[in-house]
Order: sequence, then structure tokens, then C-alpha cells
Amino acid sequence: MQTSFTPAQLADPANASSEKILRTCVHCGFCTATCPTYLLLGDELDSPRGRIYLIKDMLEGQKPATPEVVTHIDRCLSCLSCMTTCPSGVHYMHLVDHARAYIEKTYRRSMSDRLLRALLAATLPYRARFRSAIMFARLAKPLKGAMGSLPLLGARLAAMLELAPASVPRGPARRPRVFPAEGARKGRVALLDGCVQPVLKPSINEAAIRLLNRLGIEVVFPQGEGCCGALVHHMGREASSHAFAAHNIEVWHAEIEKSGLDAILITASGCGTTIKDYGFMFRNDARLAAKAAKVSALAKDISEYLTNLDLPAPSRPMGLTVAYHSACSMQHGQRIIEDPKNLLRKAGFSVKDVAEGHICCGSAGVYNILQPELAEKLRDRKIGHIARTKPDIVATGNIGCITQIAKGFLNRERAGGSAAPPVLHTVELLDWALGGPKPKNIAKAVLTREMAGPL
Ligand code: SF4
Ligand code: SF4
Repeated sequence: MQTSFTPAQLADPANASSEKILRTCVHCGFCTATCPTYLLLGDELDSPRGRIYLIKDMLEGQKPATPEVVTHIDRCLSCLSCMTTCPSGVHYMHLVDHARAYIEKTYRRSMSDRLLRALLAATLPYRARFRSAIMFARLAKPLKGAMGSLPLLGARLAAMLELAPASVPRGPARRPRVFPAEGARKGRVALLDGCVQPVLKPSINEAAIRLLNRLGIEVVFPQGEGCCGALVHHMGREASSHAFAAHNIEVWHAEIEKSGLDAILITASGCGTTIKDYGFMFRNDARLAAKAAKVSALAKDISEYLTNLDLPAPSRPMGLTVAYHSACSMQHGQRIIEDPKNLLRKAGFSVKDVAEGHICCGSAGVYNILQPELAEKLRDRKIGHIARTKPDIVATGNIGCITQIAKGFLNRERAGGSAAPPVLHTVELLDWALGGPKPKNIAKAVLTREMAGPL
């Protein structure tokens, strides 16, 4: 694609990077076939190619974002399915990240939109605030119907209440900073605790710690580590996402210098995609560039790391059917496709792929709150495909997908459909199969089948 940025515009590193990306696009349109929003809406401007044209026009003209551009960029899930499909290697992620940051700087959103986005940015990245927000949402849940009919914010407030879990599990009150390896130490890793996941499902990292320790890996939670910045990053809040990232880079780097780390492990693939991109985010930062690159190089999804360890044979007969849902950030963002499935197979599960597996479940960070209608359509499409595999359990590697898919199945069950299968993180299943305790929400029916042994 030809571009016409001026030399002055290209002096800005963000424009220079986007110009390079734009030039790699050959307008072939292959990406449209795998874009969820194009699939649902059939509008070229809701396809990757259409968005690329909109972004090009906006950046070249250095004009404030228009309502039309904002509408179509806001509808993009940042699922990165288009990156997997593109034969020319267009780095859509960096392009749309730039566009979102540009929109935040040049476009004044409606008051309701600004309020909602400010509320999400001030709540989600902070564990204590997020926990309180869930408590409040649970109290307000009976008002969901009335709220849903409010003009402007109604549907999005209702979506927020809908996503609030019925109960919030109690996390570890105060846990040690270091979990030593059992037996001879074979490795030492930092495990990201993050913000949303430890509130909604602390059992995921508890399972990861147990499994890693049993495999001889020491697990450390470096003092002061917090949100990775992914959630605000996807809202275009560059200053805020960079501040979160810079903080964690310093924390992890200090740990690397002090005691050494073999890897920084992440159990939420949405966070992993962002942390692996810290090197790019800070490429022009004289103080942080080298540290950020080091952190990104050490960042690994838990499934990537476990793949390179010697796992024992499963300690119990499993034979359960697991529908594996690959999160977009896992398959498109990090290109981790087979590792989680192979691990589950080795652990004794019968793993089934889901039709249309490349299409997003609609979770996408805070997309299911900001774009509830599209998110719901994608969710229902996804659970339909998962249900057709007749799974005992659904496994995935991202807390957003777990919440979204579990909610979809629950709604279906309440509407008279079949019983909702448990939706678990891959590492919870691996820990269970390889000697750990049974995950809490495994249903009796699943256990009965498991006791019957492999099919
Ligand atoms: S597939 Fe790649 S090169 Fe083709 S239009 Fe899409 S982004 Fe451009
Ligand atoms: S990131 Fe996903 S929603 Fe956005 S343009 Fe690409 S495929 Fe479409």
C-alpha cells in the first residue's frame, strides 16, 4: 500500500512504525474471511482491510479522529485473527494500538462513554477496587433489567452486571513471596498475579504454583508487581498502560538482578501478549528499552514453559472429553497452538478442537462491556460450537474467555438447555491430573465419568 507521510510526520517513531506496517499491506482482503466483526456485520469498514484504510487516512492527514473512524476501530476486538491469516505479515496489532492511542488524544467521546471508560480504567487494574466493584455489582444485579433500558449507557451497564460472578472466591489472605521447589531445584520463575484473575479465580495460580513446585520449580511473586497494563492498553490509554508496564519491568528486572529468573510465567494469555510486547512498547525509551526487551524475552505462557519440562504420567485415570478453546491472545497473539492441547492429552484427557476455533468468543478484554451486542453474538456462536463437541469440561488459557464462556453456558442452562460444563484453566486440569486436588467446580457427573476410566 502506498503511503504519503511527510518527513516531519515520520520523525515521530509511532508514525514511522505505522507507515512501515501500512506499506506491507497489499489490499488482498484475505484477512476479511477470518475477521469476526466482518463475519457478523458484513461491512468492509468492519474488516481489517477497511480499518487499515481508515487508520492510514487518519494518520496521514494528522486529523482528529472522526466518529466514523472511532465507530469502526471501537468495534475491532483486537483478536488478531487477521494477523494469523495475512500472507504479507501485516502487524495489525501495532497499527491498531497506535490508532487507539491516537483516538484517545484527538477525539472527545460522549460523556457516557468517557464515564464508563474512566470507571473501567480506575477499577479493573486494581485488585481491591475490582473486588469492591464486584460486591457492588452483585448487590445491583436485581436492577439489571431496569438499567438495561436506560438510554446511552444502559446496555453496557447491564453487561457489566451480567458479568459479575455470583460469588467471589476468597484469595490467599497473605501468602509467602517464594514457593520453594519440592526436591532438587530445577528452575526458578516469577509468576504474574495480575489484577482481575486473582480476584475472579485465584485457583488458577494456586494450581500453577502446586504443579510447578512438584516439578522442581521455585515460584516467586516479586514484591510490588501489579497489573501488566493490558486492559487500559486496549482502551488506548497509552500513558496509563506504559506506567503499569514500566513499573512491572523495574520490579521483574530487580528480581532478575537479585536472584535470577529462568522465566516470567503468565497464566492469562491476554496479559502474556502484552508483556511479550513490552520490548516494542519501550523500544525508544533510553532508560527502559534494554530491561523491557529482557522481560519480554523471559515472558512465557505457562503452557509453553510446561511443554519443556518432563511431566510425570497422569496419577489418575482421566478419559474425560475436554473441548479446548484457544484464546485469541494465545493462538493469534502468541501463536501458541498445540502446546496446551498436547499437555492435556499427555495428562490423559481426550481433547477436542472446536469448529470456528479461530473466531473470538467476544470477551476481548473489556470488549464484552463496551460492545455488548456484538460480544453476545460471538459468545453464543462460540458456545454453540463448543456444545457440539459434547465436552465434559471446557479448557482455555485466559480468564476473560473463562468468564465469557461460562456465562454463556450458564444462561443457556437457565433457559432450559443442557447442564453447563465446567470451564477451567488448562493448568487447573494439568495440576489435577498430575497429582493435585480436584478443581472446585468439577461436577459430580464429570467425576462419575472419570471414575469409569478412559473410554
Ligand atoms: S490479508 Fe494482509 S495484506 Fe491482505 S488486505 Fe489483509 S492485512 Fe492487507
Ligand atoms: S483484530 Fe480481529 S476484529 Fe480486529 S480487524 Fe483483526 S480480525 Fe477483525
